Order: sequence, then structure tokens, then C-alpha cells
Amino acid sequence: MAEFKREGSNLSSCPPVEKWDDWVEYDPEAWPRRVARHYQIIPTICFNCESACGLLAYVDKETGKVEKFEGNPKHPASRGRVCAKGPAVINQIHDPDRILYPMKRVGPRGGGQWTRTSWEEVLETFGSRIRKALQEGRGEEVMYHVGRPGYDFIMERTLQAWGIDGHNSHTNICSSSARFGYVLWHHADRPSPDHANARFILLLSAHLESGHYFNPHAQRIIDGKMAGAKIAVMDPRLSNTASMGDYWMPSYPGTEAAVLLAMAKVILDENLFDPTFMKNWTNWEEAEFDGFVAKGQTFAAFVEALKRHYAKYTPEFAEKESGVQAEVIVKVAREIATAGSKFASHLWRGSASGNLGGWQPVRALVLLHVLTGSVGTEGGHSLNAWNKFVPRPFKVPPPQQRWNELLYPPEWPLCTHEMSMLLPHLIKEGRGRLEAYFTRVFNPVWTYPDGFSWIEVLRDERLVGLHAALTPTWSETAWYADYVLPMGLSSERHDLMSQETHASKWIGFRQPVLRVFQEKQGKKVDYTYQANPGEVWEEDEFWINLSWAIDPDGSMGIRQWFESPYRPGQKITVDEYYGWIFENSVPGLAETAKKENLSPLAYMRKYGAYEVTTDVYKLNEKPLSAAELEGAKIEANGLVTRQGKPLGVMNNEKAVVGYNTPSRKLEIFSKTLVEWKWPEFALPEYYRSHVDRAAQAASLGSVTASVDRKYMPVVEWPKDANGEVFTLLPIFRLPTLIHTRSGNAKLLYEIAHKNPLWVNPIDAEKIGNLHTGDLLKVHTEIGFFVLHAWITEGIAPGVVACSHHLGRWRVNKDDHIERFSSAWVDLKEVSKGQWKMRQISAVEPYDSSDPDTRRVWWSDAGVHQDITFPVHPDPLSGMHCWHQVVRVERAGSDDRYGDIFVDTNLSHAVYQRWKALARPAPGPGNLRRPLWFPRVARPVETAFYFG
Ligand code: SF4
Repeated sequence: MAEFKREGSNLSSCPPVEKWDDWVEYDPEAWPRRVARHYQIIPTICFNCESACGLLAYVDKETGKVEKFEGNPKHPASRGRVCAKGPAVINQIHDPDRILYPMKRVGPRGGGQWTRTSWEEVLETFGSRIRKALQEGRGEEVMYHVGRPGYDFIMERTLQAWGIDGHNSHTNICSSSARFGYVLWHHADRPSPDHANARFILLLSAHLESGHYFNPHAQRIIDGKMAGAKIAVMDPRLSNTASMGDYWMPSYPGTEAAVLLAMAKVILDENLFDPTFMKNWTNWEEAEFDGFVAKGQTFAAFVEALKRHYAKYTPEFAEKESGVQAEVIVKVAREIATAGSKFASHLWRGSASGNLGGWQPVRALVLLHVLTGSVGTEGGHSLNAWNKFVPRPFKVPPPQQRWNELLYPPEWPLCTHEMSMLLPHLIKEGRGRLEAYFTRVFNPVWTYPDGFSWIEVLRDERLVGLHAALTPTWSETAWYADYVLPMGLSSERHDLMSQETHASKWIGFRQPVLRVFQEKQGKKVDYTYQANPGEVWEEDEFWINLSWAIDPDGSMGIRQWFESPYRPGQKITVDEYYGWIFENSVPGLAETAKKENLSPLAYMRKYGAYEVTTDVYKLNEKPLSAAELEGAKIEANGLVTRQGKPLGVMNNEKAVVGYNTPSRKLEIFSKTLVEWKWPEFALPEYYRSHVDRAAQAASLGSVTASVDRKYMPVVEWPKDANGEVFTLLPIFRLPTLIHTRSGNAKLLYEIAHKNPLWVNPIDAEKIGNLHTGDLLKVHTEIGFFVLHAWITEGIAPGVVACSHHLGRWRVNKDDHIERFSSAWVDLKEVSKGQWKMRQISAVEPYDSSDPDTRRVWWSDAGVHQDITFPVHPDPLSGMHCWHQVVRVERAGSDDRYGDIFVDTNLSHAVYQRWKALARPAPGPGNLRRPLWFPRVARPVETAFYFG
């Protein structure tokens, strides 16, 4: 395996692997004495974001305690480097307030009374409730709802083994819109830019400091920059990323597609595009738009029609919409064209997650890649499926027969993932209930919009029968659970992970380091909770044992999937589960391990990661094998099919795999959108956001001609409403915090603990002589929140911004709930659906087993904004459109910092308004959803049709 070390230096940033079994360092706390400490170094994987960077745990061989975490130089993606959140795992595992034992509710739900229970009781309770539900045909009432997964495939396998359609995720408050845009082009729902080899990088977000695959991507963006690449950043906020750019384009939120399409127009008009790539690899021959029918026409005629179609997106039009200067748009377009196949980009959340139609900027961005032929190239845009490796386990259950409309309701047939943020509304509408509900690293009461609607449903035992919060840390949602089940942090669990971080395919192995340490010492450990602090367990073993508890004698057909492939009829162990995968499903791993006289499992335990291949470019050109072509037919249009289903496509007289779309090409023209009632968006277009400036004006009563209510739900303020109207950007991340999971990391909170409202000086004047620190009241459609102002030119005029992560709260003063990161609040439902929250006390120093909690010097915990937002489901992607049209005014004499008010009756009405934008199923052939669209835990094909 390659060493990742800086060239030209004789300094070592990491102990060499041969010394990991006994690494000696002087104890820093014993200084100035030289006291040698001996460490066992064990690799694992960080769980503090999706990137899956490699960590090394330093276990003191004398005390058996983990003393620190550093980066694993053997990890192909992170290459020994980590962000601040990686080493902060040490704070998390030693957090004095952490939950160490399974807890069971006593008293009313939400009342805050808990008692310790055993894992056996938990398994028996949930096993019998789920068994009964399955036996009575109520499988839809069993639901697993995940925030941060941190694994690949094992939960889909578990739920399919139970035969249920019960997988719910957080994706539609995260990345559904971006995924939708990418799916329409090439089926793969995530991009994988090759930043390191790019000549020009376009980022539509603060990607360098807090993006998806943050640390692995940031390293490679800088590698690219050091090698001469230029960077352009489109973001209304002057982020650290924007400050590193050669171009900062502070576009007005929601107008990004107008800018990108103007760039496409420049490239088309100036004939700077790659005609060979476009002709060979787009489905241009299927296009029908503006009266033009491509069938039977030349490619040149298609290009002319495309030029005519995009003529309206002039740089001047884009400037008017976005505020980005036309000459900058032209300049960047030419730079992109010059970079050609070495043009990389990234758009994941940001504008995609903020705006109604946020998937259109993705459609427009990939159009730039298609025009420049930079798809699958070195230095270009690639597909997640080409750079991610998910090995199969020993036995895969068949797909479930059912379709759960609480997950995929018919109104949103094209949604990329489950309509998870609508769950309280769907339940309130009487569409179903939950018998057993597992929330896992998932805190919707806090992280989701409309958290009070979640509380209203979670507290009602008729709607949610039994709720277990599986969590490594305390959360506002866990307060409304029946069981709080402590699950391991980064270094306390097994998981197998792979991410599309760069031009490579790799796997990383997260492992419980204290268990591995004890086993190295010759101690037998049956279950991970025996080695972890308290009785903190891990999900892998929990689900295996729960599956046995549901089906103890195997008569339901569930147990068979959790029996050992090596010891028939016996319960599988985690060593056997992963050992089988490493022996059988990872190309080259067994041979590599053998060279070191190791089993594949021992190799992965030693190094923690393995690079499968770097042969990942242009995989669309991979020839179909003779076996794949057996029984296949070549259609007149060049499509290679078997039994009517596309398998590949002819390219230069060779049958190749192409892309996983119906045309096996990049779909510049989406027949799917035409067939599913959205013909106006068959080509990439500019879809006006719900925070469009005309929509803001309309909210004040001056409805303009440009507001088309068919597409845009307009906020309606009360007649006597005060204040100035702005677009609020509520989703930018701070590089050092982790959604709601960093409340247990004292050093991260010491670095960042405030989320003031960013206000441009021009707007500060408009509001009225506003200064930094002044108290503001921000009105949303359903309530308000009160916080401090921060006056800065780092935000575009007309836009205000408030960071994600902060504003954690607890309703009990001293209940060992991360007191250095949460405010103690008074929470009241003052009348039906009307909720008020007021901070009683902010953060204060306190006594605990950690002397640092007496040294807490900050008092601010921030203000919880998300709970004051209604749901905004995009009618196509299903994404919650995060940006808000808000009214901002000076706080009144009765308002206090942190005050919150919400009316959930209004939030349900907003839900209904947005639902009315949808164009429901059925689609062609009575389908619920296009058959070619990806779906997590995909059911059988017949379930895709209405019965
Ligand atoms: S980027 Fe930071 S938080 Fe994310 S996995 Fe890597 S070290 Fe952990």
C-alpha cells in the first residue's frame, strides 16, 4: 500500500505501521519529566461526517484507555489528514454526560423520567412487538429512520430480511434535489469531481471548508490549485471557500441556474463545446422541444435548435436575475471551455437544498460538463457509482413485496428519497401509524423543519406505539422516546464504508478499538458492549440479535439471514460477517493480505482501509462482455437490450455499457419528465425559486406578473406586518461542528458556539441604524425566533444568513445533557399547536468528572431556527427547500434572546399549499415511480405499480 507522506521532508507525521503494536511517546502531562508511555495504535474510521476519514486510536497499553486520535496515513482518501472533528472524537468518548446504559422511560412520554434497563429486555420487548406486527400483516408500521448512516448496505439487508418496506432516511432535508438533477442526467445520484487533476474548478457552495466529503475533497481542491487550477465560487456568502477563489460570484439565492445557462449559451454560441462527445454521449436524437424534432435530423440541426432555445439566457439576463456581472459570467464560461475535459465542479447542498427547483442548477451544471466533454475524464466530473465500492455480504435477502406510502406517497412519484420530513403531516392526515419506530443518529425535533409537529406526533402513543432512539449522544428527539439505546461513537463500532472522494475505489473498516485492543491482549469478547464504556453497543450486533429475537425458532424465515456462513444454524458474529466479505467480495484483498501472511480480516484490522482500484475513468466505454451480450439485441437506435430492458449502447461499432439511463446515454432531454407530466422541464431550465425577489415583493402584497403561482407558493404576511423582507439562508455549515452530534465535544464548542444573523450594512440601515449585537426578531411563515445581528459585507444585500448546528436546548436543568452546548429552556404549548420556548439559563460552568466543565467560559448556545420553519417539499425531487422568505425587525421590549414561537396549525396549512404544487402518480402504465429510478431498499418490480 502506498505511503502518503510529504516529499522532501525527513520529518515523520505518523508512526510507521511496524511500530503500531508498541509505539512509545513521552507523556505530555508529565513534562518536564520524561515519562515514556507505550501505545497500541489501532485504525478506525471517523463517524463525525460522511467522509469516512481514517483515524488512528492511541490506546495506552498500561491503562487500556484511548488517549488520542490522529489521521491514518494508510487511508487512500484522507491520507493521514483530518479536520478538527476527527481528533475531537477523544472528547466525545470521554464526555462526562454521555449515555452509558440502555434507558427505559418511566412516567409519561416526554416527561424526562428514565430508568436503566438491560439489552436483553430491550431485545425481548422490540422482538415481540415487531413479530406480532409482521404476523398480523402490519409490516408498514415498523420503521427505521436514519440520520447519519455511516455504513453501506447492512441496514437495507436487515429490513429486507424482515420483509418490510421500512427504510426512512434524512436525505430529503439534505441532498434530494442535487441527487434528482444528477439522476436525470446519468442515474448515479452523486457527483465525484476529480479536483486534483482539474484545470478549472467551479464550486456552488462553501465546499472547501464544509462540503460533502469535506477533508478528502478540500485536500484535492488545494492539490488542484497548487498545480495551477483556477477556482470560481458561486455563493451569496463570502465563505472561506469564496475567499480562496479566483472568482467570487455572489449570486442572489435561487438564480444559479440562470448564471449557469448563460455560461452554456456562451459556450454554445462561441462554438467552444466538444461536438464529438455531445454527439456520441447525449440522447440528443430523442429531443423534441420548441417544435424541433431531432429524430431524422442531423446533430448540427440539434445544436442550432439548442442555441435558439437557450438564446433567452443572455449574460445580461443572468446578471439582472443574479447580480453577477455579465462580463464575469462570460469570462468564467470561457475559462471552463478552455479547461475542457479538465473542468471539475461541485454542487451538493447550498443552492440545490435551499431552493424550490434546486435541482435545475444541477441540470445546468452538468450541461456545462456535457458541453466540455468533461464527464468521466481525468480532471473532470465523474459518477459516484464509478468511485465507490460496496461489497456484497454472504447472502442477500430478496426484495420486499410491499410499497410503503408513508415513505413514498403518490403525490411525489419522482422524489429521490423518502419524504421523511412529511412524516408527522402524513400521520396527522391519517395515512398510517407506527408500531415500532427506530430513530438512529437522527434528531428530527431539532434538525428538521417544523420540529414541534414532530413533538406532537412523537408524544402520542396512539400514533407511535414504541420508539427507540439509537444514538451515540443525547438529542432533543430522544427526550420523546420510550427507549434511549446508546450506540458507539467512531471508535466503538464496526462499519464498512466507501465514498466517492476522488478518482479511486476504496473501502474503510471502522472498528471498536477497545474490543480490538482487548482481543490483542488475549481476552475473549463476545459482544462489543463488553469492551466499550458502560454498555454502549453497536448496531451490527444489535440488529443481528434483534432479528433472532423476532424469529427465535426460524419459522418466519428471518433468522436464516443472520446465521453464520461458516457454522450452519448458529448466530453470525461480526468477525464472520465482515470476514466473509473481505475473503470473497473485495477484488485483490485476499491476495494482498496473503503477501503479509494475514487473513483478509486481519489485514483490514491492521490497516483499516484498502484501495480496490484507481482504474475509474470513462467507465461508460467499458465493453459489454460476451456473457453479458448473450441473448442481447441491438435495436435500430443503437441501444443494446435484453428482454426489452436496456443493457448497453453501441459506440464506435462496439457494444459498451454506457450510462444507466433508459437511453444508456447522458440525458440532455428527459423523456421521463415529459412522461411524468413535467414536459416544460425536459431540457435544463431556470426554475424560479420560492425566494425569488418577485416572490418577496408578492409577500408584501405587490404581486408582479413574474410570479406564477402554479410553481411558486407565495408567503402571505398578516396585513399589519412590520419589518423588512429578506431571503434567509439557514443551512451553511460551520467547519468545526456536526449537525446535532457535536454537542458532546467540548473543544469544538469552545471554537464555535454562536449563530448570529448575518446582515449587510445596506440592510442594517434599512432596518434602522442596526449594529452588531442588536437584538432582532425574525418572522417566518409559522412563527419567529430572536437572535443577535452581525453586520458584515460578507453577505449580499437583500439576503440574511444564520448558520446551522447551533441553538441546542434541554428542558431539564441538570439532566446530564451536554450542558456546555445547550441552553436550559422553558417549553410550553400555550394553546393547541401554539408553542413557546424561552431560555431560562444559558451555558454556565458546572461540576462533573471532567475538570474542564468548570472552565467553560462561553455562555451562548445559539438560537434554534429550524423549528420555526414549515416544510417546503419540492414537487419533483421531494427536497425540503430550506431557504425562507422572512421578515426582520428589531426585537420588542418583551422579546428576549433565544425566544421562539411557532403555530403548527399554520405549518400544516403551508404543507397543504406546497402539496398542491405536486403532480401525483400514476405515471405511464399505472406506475408509482419510474422503474429506472434508484430507490433505497428497492422492492420487487411489481410493487412499483398501483395494485
Ligand atoms: S472530514 Fe473531518 S469529520 Fe469528516 S470524516 Fe474526516 S475527519 Fe471526520
